[in-house]
Parts: sequence; structure tokens; C-alpha cells
Amino acid sequence: MKYFDRITGLPNKLLFFDRLKTALADAKRSDTKLAVIVIDLDNFRTINDTLGHDVGDKLLLQVAEKIKGLLRESDTVARLGGDEFVILQTGLKDINDVTKVAERILEKFRNPWFLEGREYYITASLGISIYPNDGQDEKALVRNADIAMSRAKETGKNNYELFMESMKKKMIDKLDLENDLRHAIEKEEFVLFYQPQIALATGEIIGVEALIRWQREGVGLVQPMEFIPAAEESSLIIPLGEWILRTACLQNVRWINSGIKPVLMAVNLSAKQFQQRNLVEMIEKVLDETGMDPTLLELEITESTAMLDVDFTVKVLKRLKDMGIRISLDDFGTGYSSLNYLKILPIDSLKIDKSFVHDLTSSPSEEAIAKSVINLAHKLNLLVVAEGVETKDQLELLKNHMCDKVQGYLLSKPVPPKEAEILLRESQNGLERFRG
Ligand code: C2E
Ligand code: CA
Ligand code: CA
Repeated sequence: MKYFDRITGLPNKLLFFDRLKTALADAKRSDTKLAVIVIDLDNFRTINDTLGHDVGDKLLLQVAEKIKGLLRESDTVARLGGDEFVILQTGLKDINDVTKVAERILEKFRNPWFLEGREYYITASLGISIYPNDGQDEKALVRNADIAMSRAKETGKNNYELFMESMKKKMIDKLDLENDLRHAIEKEEFVLFYQPQIALATGEIIGVEALIRWQREGVGLVQPMEFIPAAEESSLIIPLGEWILRTACLQNVRWINSGIKPVLMAVNLSAKQFQQRNLVEMIEKVLDETGMDPTLLELEITESTAMLDVDFTVKVLKRLKDMGIRISLDDFGTGYSSLNYLKILPIDSLKIDKSFVHDLTSSPSEEAIAKSVINLAHKLNLLVVAEGVETKDQLELLKNHMCDKVQGYLLSKPVPPKEAEILLRESQNGLERFRG
């Protein structure tokens, strides 16, 4: 029992290191390669928090069985602890042997997991280190696979990374980043930029999306992709998210008070924020304190956030909609493309992801897909927003297929508040540049 994990029946950390040590000695003697793959579930904490540990344990068992089923007899899979698993793969011929395994594991996670009669979608991030390139002993190999796994998380999760020496420096940079982030709110280093959304029927700006930037001391303007993941991981996204919402609402009220016709204010909610128990209360409080009209607020949640626990999502969204808030499904087409779920999610619009818009003009089949997504959305009474529109051709095509709104560099990049105000005034005075 000392060597096996109680929940999954897999070897535990102790036994794994033991086997790795033996395998390393073999590899050294026979001059062969071996790989260590660290696997970390991406949303496990949420499952544990919302459904309880019993359900979490069942999921770990299912994951363990699935992974075991994908490996050869001679490979070892163990549970390192928490939601972290590790694989030892011996007798490696070339790098493809290990990347193939990684791909197969990711593939498995594309299917839903069944727990208590319900479906859950979770993803995993993998990190790989290889002997002899990435370390000489057990500790170094596992640590470096772990660093690579963290890198996979940072670059968007649901993926694998091979260890590289340069990742070590990135780890140190990351610690600095988290430290600086912690102080950035009080130092008032964050700013919101605003990107116009244009109604294709009239060419007018009918809304803006608030997008955060960080004026980091000694560095300059930092883009959200560089720090939102770290803010999520460290839970800083909770106070930061509240700051974002409050700032966006205040801006909207200020514009209206200065004589600008009301436009929608779209604000992004992160996955972690969405799981917060007091999210609805926090939003109520901010609306109340800023005097923001709830019907002008549009909250954007990504498809993958919405899909994590559909029942939970529906409950929260219903409460928000009861308050008059609009909901938009962000990054549509990048997740599990679950057209079926569109029917049950109480949303107002969906945003076709920019990767999708980018491919739009490249082939007739892409165009056909876009066309049918727009049609279906309209049948469900949803508005369709295309984001990342960069060319006139894309715009033309979206117009032809009756897309409702567009957002993208072609019309304007996200700009600071003052410039956004100028764009709003120009548009409301009927200026030609927005007539597509
Ligand atoms: P997103 O919500 O999908 O935002 C759209 C991103 O596309 C923005 O990147 C925007 O600048 C960019 N974009 C707009 N038009 C074009 C275009 O024509 N071409 C291309 N290539 N890109 C375009 P940004 O501002 O770097 O934000 C990246 C992501 O960071 C956002 O993706 C969102 O997930 C997150 N984010 C940004 N601001 C916030 C925030 O206030 N709160 C939260 N939770 N997440 C945020
Ligand atoms: Ca968005
Ligand atoms: Ca998006």
C-alpha cells in the first residue's frame, strides 16, 4: 500500500521515482532514450469545488484508467498527487514516439467525462522531458517536465510542450510577473482600451468591447495574453475583474453624461470569475454604485467557460439576464463547437472567433460553415458578431451572409478612452469612415 495511490490504484510518487531510477540506469547502460510526461488537468479544481471531493475522486479514477489504456505494458503511469499524473516511457526510438502518446491523451480529453449522470468537459496540459537531453537524474527530468507543463498552461492549456532550457528563465520571469501583478492594482497601472463594434446594417458604432492593458513599471504596455493567465492562476483576477467591470461601467456612464448616445459596453469575464459564488452579487453592487444601465452591459464569456458545467452556466446566466444584462458567447468555434448547446444557453449573441474569420475568404467550405452558423444563430434569435475582421473582403462576405455586427482592425484597433470617445462622436455624427 505504501507504493500505490488509494484513489486510482496507480503507483504513487515514491514508486514512480523508484521505477524511473531503475529505468535511467538501464537507459544509461544501453544508451537509449526515455521520456517523462507530466499531465495536469486544467479545470479539476472547479470540479472539486462545485461537485465535491467524491465526484472529483471518481473523475481521477476515470482519467487514470483512460491514460493507462493508451500506454504500452512497459510504460508506467503514476499519480504524483492532486490532479497531476506522470508517465514514464522507455525505449524511445525518436521524439515522435512520445509526441504521439501526448496527442492521443489530448484526443481522449476531447470526449466528455460522465459523472453522476452528467457530462463534463475538461482538458489537460502536458509537459515532456527526455533523457538524456533534458536531465540526467529523476529529479531533474520530472522538474523539467513540470516546467514544460506549466508552459503549456500558460500558452492556452489543452496542449503539450517539450521542455526547453529557455523555459527555466521564463519560470523566473513568471514569478516576477506574479509579484508585480499583485501590486499593479494599487499602483493604478491598469488601463482599459475600447474597441468599437459596428452594426453592418447602418455602419454605426453600437457598442465597444473593453480590453485591458497593463502599464507595467519598467516594461511598458503589456497585452492581456501576457498576464491574464497569471492573474487567473493566482486568483488576482477576482479583484482585477471587479476593477475592470467598475471602470467600464463608469466610462459608459461618463460618456452618456457628456452627451454621447448610449452604446453597449461589452466586458469579458474570465473562467475563474464566472465560477465565483458571489459573481452576481458583485455585478449588482457595481451596477448600483456606478449607476450603469444594466441593459447597456454585455458580458462576454467564452464558449469553453460556458461548456465546463452547462447546468451551472444556465443558472448563472439566467440570473444575469433577469437583471437586464446581455450575454455574449465569446470565441465561438474554438471550443467544442457544440451547436446543440446554443439552444439551452440563455444568451443574446455569439461572437465568431477571429481564427474563423481569418480563414473565411480562403476557401468556399469555410464560407459555407460561416454561413450556416449565422443562419442557425438567427433561427435561435441570436445576434452574430464577427471579431478580428481585418480585410474588406471579409467584411463584404460577412455582410452578404447577414452577419449583424463586426469588430476588428479594419474598422479600429482597441484604443484608449479619449480616442474611443472621438470615434463614438464621429460615428454618431454620421461620419463616412464607418460606412464599411
Ligand atoms: P478576446 O475577448 O477574444 O478579445 C479580442 C482580441 O482580439 C483582443 O485582443 C483584440 O485586440 C483582438 N483583435 C481585435 N480585432 C482584431 C483583428 O482585426 N485582428 C486580430 N488579429 N486581433 C484583433 P487583446 O486585447 O490582446 O485581448 C486578448 C484576450 O485577453 C481577450 O480575447 C480576452 O480573452 C482577454 N482579455 C482582454 N481584456 C480582458 C478583460 O478585461 N478581462 C478578461 N477576463 N479578459 C480579458
Ligand atoms: Ca471578448
Ligand atoms: Ca473573442
